[in-house]
Amino acid sequence: MAEVRYESASRIYPGNPPVRAVDGLDLEVADGEFLVLVGPSGSGKSTALRMLAGLEDVNEGTIRIGERDVTNVPPKGRDIAMVFQSYALYPHMTVAQNMGFALKLQGLPKAEIATKVREAATLLDLEKFLERKPKALSGGQRQRVAMGRAIVRDPAVFLMDEPLSNLDAKLRVETRANIAALQRRLGTTTIYVTHDQVEAMTMGHRVAVLKDGLLQQCDTPRALYDRPANAFVAGFIGSPAMNLVEVPVRADGVSLGGLDVALPRESTTAVANAGIDRVTVGVRPESLALSPSGAENSFELVVELVEELGADALVHGSVQGSDERLVMRVDGRTPPALAQTVAVTIRDAAELHVFHPGTGERLV
Ligand code: ADP
Ligand code: MG
Repeated sequence: MAEVRYESASRIYPGNPPVRAVDGLDLEVADGEFLVLVGPSGSGKSTALRMLAGLEDVNEGTIRIGERDVTNVPPKGRDIAMVFQSYALYPHMTVAQNMGFALKLQGLPKAEIATKVREAATLLDLEKFLERKPKALSGGQRQRVAMGRAIVRDPAVFLMDEPLSNLDAKLRVETRANIAALQRRLGTTTIYVTHDQVEAMTMGHRVAVLKDGLLQQCDTPRALYDRPANAFVAGFIGSPAMNLVEVPVRADGVSLGGLDVALPRESTTAVANAGIDRVTVGVRPESLALSPSGAENSFELVVELVEELGADALVHGSVQGSDERLVMRVDGRTPPALAQTVAVTIRDAAELHVFHPGTGERLV
């Protein structure tokens, strides 16, 4: 077991101009932690993982596993095991042979390999399939074999790059719970890459959000949701996404939906200190509520789309008399009708997020 540290680590792909695929990454992963790297496609997640695995040069900075500087250590010497999106199982080998292959290469005695393979197979519920070939397995079983190959090596660190993307939605949900439980049992430091923010939020002890090779924020799922550091994280974490609208600043708040909405004192102070007359306000879909027509502090929303999800419904609409568009989450049993005009209130101004309209940085 070990902790992992990226210290101002960069990977710069040559070209004109060069691509800073991972740019000055500072990140510490604690011993035994499950850290998720999340971000849109091309944000540098795989590159960051491959730098740690030794599959990609580190052009600036340092990478440590435990106290050891591994920046220039070849992959074999790093004591890590990686699970990729494509499992790349050997088709001519049985499940047991696939799982034991790395140990065989290390020259471990047969009996020891068999024991380790059996232990991993038990953990992964694969005992019945040990003599099968990969083609006789379902997608979920193949995925577990790929996990098994990593587990038998008992590495200091697991690296997983979108290991669930080949599974259908239902199996993905099941498997992500199984991987999280397995990691808890094994207690092995794990870095897990995904572009799926739901996967990130449900699996990670902490989640690191990347964009354009730059770390945006690294924190617990709760903290990312409640206090996103900037408008990008605010819009990326949460489904449906947080509403982000640029609005004018008023005396003690902002104008939103044609209403003057008072903001908490810290927010108005921060806005004043920044010397700006517009801000980007973020409102989660559940921070908006339907209210009786004409209710105090309500604004009107023209319903453009209703998505019924069962327990909830998502109402998309445009604010009457403006070009602001908002999504709100309402009780699934009583959704408004299409084209209806509904009155909407903000549940609590303390739930509003305020960002700098230029830099996107959170103001308080
Ligand atoms: P992600 O895994 O988040 O989708 P990647 O780490 O694969 O992103 O890629 C990050 C950036 O680096 C992208 O802009 C990608 O085009 C670029 N990139 C990745 N691999 C190479 C390469 N071998 N040569 C040049 N550019 C690359
Ligand atoms: Mg990738």
